Amino acid sequence: MQTRILSTKDSNTIAVAAEIIKSNGLVAIPTETVYGLGANGLSEEAVAKIFVAKGRPQDNPLILHVAQPRDIERFCRDIPKAAYALADAFWPGPLTMVLPVHPCVPKCTTAGLPTVGVRCPDNDVTRQIIALAGVPIAAPSANISGKPSTTTAEHVLHDHDGKLDLIVDGGPCRVGVESTIVDLTEARPRLLRPGGITPEQLIAVLGDLVVDKAVTAQIDKDEVVKAPGMKYKHYAPQSDVIIVSGSREKAAEYIHRHYKENDRVLCFEEELPLYSDCKPLAYGREGDVSTLSAGLFAALRELDDPGIGIVYARCPEGGGVAYAVQNRLKKAAAFRIVNAEVEV
Ligand code: AMP
Ligand code: MG
Repeated sequence: MQTRILSTKDSNTIAVAAEIIKSNGLVAIPTETVYGLGANGLSEEAVAKIFVAKGRPQDNPLILHVAQPRDIERFCRDIPKAAYALADAFWPGPLTMVLPVHPCVPKCTTAGLPTVGVRCPDNDVTRQIIALAGVPIAAPSANISGKPSTTTAEHVLHDHDGKLDLIVDGGPCRVGVESTIVDLTEARPRLLRPGGITPEQLIAVLGDLVVDKAVTAQIDKDEVVKAPGMKYKHYAPQSDVIIVSGSREKAAEYIHRHYKENDRVLCFEEELPLYSDCKPLAYGREGDVSTLSAGLFAALRELDDPGIGIVYARCPEGGGVAYAVQNRLKKAAAFRIVNAEVEV
């Protein structure tokens, strides 16, 4: 198959993409978070193609993308008031809600769960494609399973050339990490994955939030977790990633002590002068965390090279969007973190 690329600015993009979705093909869609590998979420045949293209484990459910907030009533049932409050506050935007699933959604989309993840993405062209297709688009991140997510059309082409009918090129993704996922099917709202909508923003609307264990700790592959995707190895380049925490000076001392010829350093722009002899790669500015979330996956992809030994990574501290960056980097590092303040 030849994979076509059309820009969101081309006049026929929406019609072409919607037609492919309606005929159960695969279309990579731009969103504000990352690129999605999209197909008709109500068709078993179409959804099966997503799992094959990504190499995604069958027990990892897909998120349904809707054109407008009220469409959740078509695909979910027993919708709590909290869902409407979150939709009012954050949709269109980088928030996925887990709700009880409507029987019209096939089991392959939800991996057989009684719930479904739904999201209204903040990209006009993508929402128009969904509206014209008349069906929700099921879309996981458009990377090969286990690899860093795709934040440009070039990343998608790299992973899926010849496997998709169309890539809709909307330029680099603004947020750069996948959506925040909140589960609203239990007595208390539960954060399953941090993202562009921060825990602080959720608490301001919900008044309450439990953070799932999978957000902060390594999950065993046999453990039962709320978001099945959280137990898999994720976001990882081929080399080992080690996060070095601590002050700028202590971290630089630690890294210089351990650095070998084929290693690399993933750091903040402000730190580049400290690592001029260590082939540093900056993924954004520590002083502006949104640049770190926007740049993280492109940097991890650049470091996905078998010739690299160890990647020593610097990670932002604190809450807000930094919390999502910490989660992705810790997963990429398989939770290997050294504290340069105490370790030599
Ligand atoms: P991705 O599409 O690659 O961003 O991954 C989607 C994430 O959403 C995975 O971690 C899934 O396990 C999670 N997810 C999707 N649907 C559900 C659901 N019904 N319940 C819990 N987690 C879900
Ligand atoms: Mg993913």
